[in-house]
Amino acid sequence: MRISELFERNQPVFSFEFFPPKTDKGFRLLYRTIEELKPLDPGYVSVTWGAGGSTRRKTVDIVIQIQNDIGLTAMAHLSCIGSGRDQLRETLGKLTEGGIENVLALGGDRPEGYEPPPDSFTYANELAAFIRGDFDFSVGGACYPETHPLAESPEKDLARLVDKVNAGVHFLITQLFYDNADFFAFEARAREAGIEVPIVPGIMPIISAANNRRIAKLSQARIPEELESRLTEVEHDDALTMEVGVEWATLQCRELIERGVSGIHFYTMNKSPATRHVFRNLQQ
Ligand SMILES: Cc1cc2nc3c(=O)[nH]c(=O)nc-3n(C[C@H](O)[C@H](O)[C@H](O)COP(=O)(O)OP(=O)(O)OC[C@H]3O[C@@H](n4cnc5c(N)ncnc54)[C@H](O)[C@@H]3O)c2cc1C
Repeated sequence: MRISELFERNQPVFSFEFFPPKTDKGFRLLYRTIEELKPLDPGYVSVTWGAGGSTRRKTVDIVIQIQNDIGLTAMAHLSCIGSGRDQLRETLGKLTEGGIENVLALGGDRPEGYEPPPDSFTYANELAAFIRGDFDFSVGGACYPETHPLAESPEKDLARLVDKVNAGVHFLITQLFYDNADFFAFEARAREAGIEVPIVPGIMPIISAANNRRIAKLSQARIPEELESRLTEVEHDDALTMEVGVEWATLQCRELIERGVSGIHFYTMNKSPATRHVFRNLQQ
């Protein structure tokens, strides 16, 4: 199923993001998590793309397995990092052969000392144009309600996003955020700039204090004062922290759905309990 077609149904499309595990234990956890989340009937699931060669192969294998053996529509993330055009063509060819119809085209983060292959792409818009030109995928792109950390300014970041959509991106998924006001302001600016494709908010329920600190640092997402003070009260206790995280994510999702978003993309961290709790709350 092409994800762009799912959005045409005019009902919120829920999706779950996973990453390729490094160990056998991690794989067992991932497949258990997918089985636990499958009854929530997601529109699709996605698997991230790593910088190293072996993780990249895993992404291709996992999406094909999820789609063909577990029966969920799966999207592969694919970044510009580490692949020249021939390698990209090979990867996209394997995905096509495996029946995958959806790719999230990303710039990716350059690892320290990174030497790009001579014919690689630098930015996601170049990769999106390449995929749209030579293949038949429904193509997604990333966007940043609080502006990409390396962008020169919010205005320039938005102008680049317009280029990315013009390169053929069918839908956008946002970086995680904790304050819906940031999303709504960004969405309004994007619409004003002429972006018409679905903009799907990315939500990550906080599951532990340590995880939260790491993620907030990596994503540079602003934590609103109210959430910060509630987390500080419970940070000694992971169960209480998850309760606060689930409650916060539920409130975010409720408001986003009420205001008519095209879907919600959950960053699951390969774990199911927080996402399942949020879903249960949303059904009440
Ligand atoms: C939903 C989502 C999923 C993600 N999945 C992965 C994953 O699987 N693997 C992974 O490694 N990372 C992933 N990331 C992280 C992402 O790769 C990084 O945030 C990366 O720094 C930017 O990727 P991008 O696709 O937004 O890049 P781009 O769209 O290329 O933008 C990157 C930066 O360059 C600027 N820019 C864009 N075009 C130009 C141009 N022509 N000239 C000058 N500047 C330009 C932009 O303003 C921005 O600051 C994901 C992020 C999101 C939001």
